[in-house]
Amino acid sequence: MCIAGEFIYQNFINQRIGGEGVPMSYVNDIIEQVIKRNPNEPEFHQAIKEVLPSIEPFIEENREIKNIGILERFVEPESQIIFRVSWVDDNGKAQVNRGFRVQFNSSIGPYKGGLRFHPTVNIGIMKFLAFEQILKNSLTGLPMGGAKGGSDFDPKGKSDGEVMRFCQSFMTELFRHIGADTDVPAGDIGVGGREIGYLFGQYKRLKNEFTGVLTGKGIEWGGSLIRPEATGYGATYFAEEMLSTRSESFQGKTVCISGSGNVAQYATEKVTQLGGKVVTSSDSNGFIYDPKGIDDEKLKFIMDLKNVKRGRIKDYAEKFGVEYFEEKRPWIIKCDIAMPCATQNEINEDEAKMLVKNGCMAVSEGANMPSTPEAVEVFLKEKILYGPGKAANAGGVATSGLEMTQNSMRLPWSREEVDTRLHSIMKNIHATCVKYGSKEDGFINYVDGANIGGFVKVANAMIAQGVV
Ligand code: NDP
Repeated sequence: MCIAGEFIYQNFINQRIGGEGVPMSYVNDIIEQVIKRNPNEPEFHQAIKEVLPSIEPFIEENREIKNIGILERFVEPESQIIFRVSWVDDNGKAQVNRGFRVQFNSSIGPYKGGLRFHPTVNIGIMKFLAFEQILKNSLTGLPMGGAKGGSDFDPKGKSDGEVMRFCQSFMTELFRHIGADTDVPAGDIGVGGREIGYLFGQYKRLKNEFTGVLTGKGIEWGGSLIRPEATGYGATYFAEEMLSTRSESFQGKTVCISGSGNVAQYATEKVTQLGGKVVTSSDSNGFIYDPKGIDDEKLKFIMDLKNVKRGRIKDYAEKFGVEYFEEKRPWIIKCDIAMPCATQNEINEDEAKMLVKNGCMAVSEGANMPSTPEAVEVFLKEKILYGPGKAANAGGVATSGLEMTQNSMRLPWSREEVDTRLHSIMKNIHATCVKYGSKEDGFINYVDGANIGGFVKVANAMIAQGVV
């Protein structure tokens, strides 16, 4: 391995001498390779460009990482599966969607990561999410590798029967690539309890075994208490930790939350429990602004609207007589804390500036990569508390990890036990970010902290396991 390592290193040295003899940095070289090898995948490029510069100082200190091509392997998925999903709609017409599973890195455990059903899903989005998942899973301290999957299928407007037939067809291919010790998918956008149920049923039928192959299962059939709440609760616990570094808390704070799905609902619940007032909720059509706050009763309305009736957030405005902003995002509303919980790139530079100008002191990302690179620049330059998704929303996958543990033991834990473990995992992730992200002036750069903290463990495992 040593000789091979030396060869790779020499190759790398030769390659990085630019046309005019100026050495390019190892990291820039890798970024260029990624862009060249994965054209037309802007979200994946964005994730790589965000992570690699953060870990550069660590790499410079650890020559072995270069010698055995850790970064070259770190940015290349171990396996990418793309498959046809054919199903029959309620009118008897055949429909065809595309299914994906990107198994990115299994150095520290079986692949783990959600499934997303949304028309925007493509291979680049899958890669960005799977790549982020590697670091996120590492940060949880649990043995889980990184993966992501999904389909361009849109569950919106489909009947239960159509969703079931789609899920069954999707699993008919996916089942051969996953398993309790291989790859354990979960939910994400468009994949909630209903979809996990249909997927699990088909897996069980095909394999003739009842195993913990998916997380986010119903509580009666192997699911974990607190899993539905975990991502939203976790992002709130993470924000609470960030606030405490400045002797602040949620008490009396005004909070803007985007989205009205799984993550947004439980972030709203936990923020309210901690004494904050959530004033916004949104979906892909617009947002509502409720200056009195979304209390428990109003949240129940949102849960019924979104999880059962599958309606639009606009109905909230009609029901409670508040303002509705069509085709707008909540960041124009004055708040102390912002929690983007909908989707990627939903806060741009101008919106970030607006948040800061309005006095926002903390951003805790429930969604994956919801802030554009320019928005992140604004938060870091202004030195507000900025918790990137891979740290702040890791509570979901962490609790999925706890679900796997309970499945292996065939022993369910109580609500309190899971919540206590989740809370302590979020505190540990925060501590890791502080350890690796603290700057000389005392500012905590959570981006660096999360990237380096997540990477160290994966890199060490890759070094130990040789060039595979
Ligand atoms: P849901 O499908 O339950 O909810 C998604 C919400 O975001 C909906 O309100 C949806 O509105 C809105 N939304 C989706 N796409 C867009 C878009 N392009 N523009 C504006 N709004 C949009 O998903 P989750 O709550 O599970 O996921 C939300 C985010 O959290 C995602 O980034 C996901 O990757 C991330 N995440 C989720 C975890 C989990 O455990 N569920 C774990 C970690 C991260 P509409 O109804 O109109 O589509």
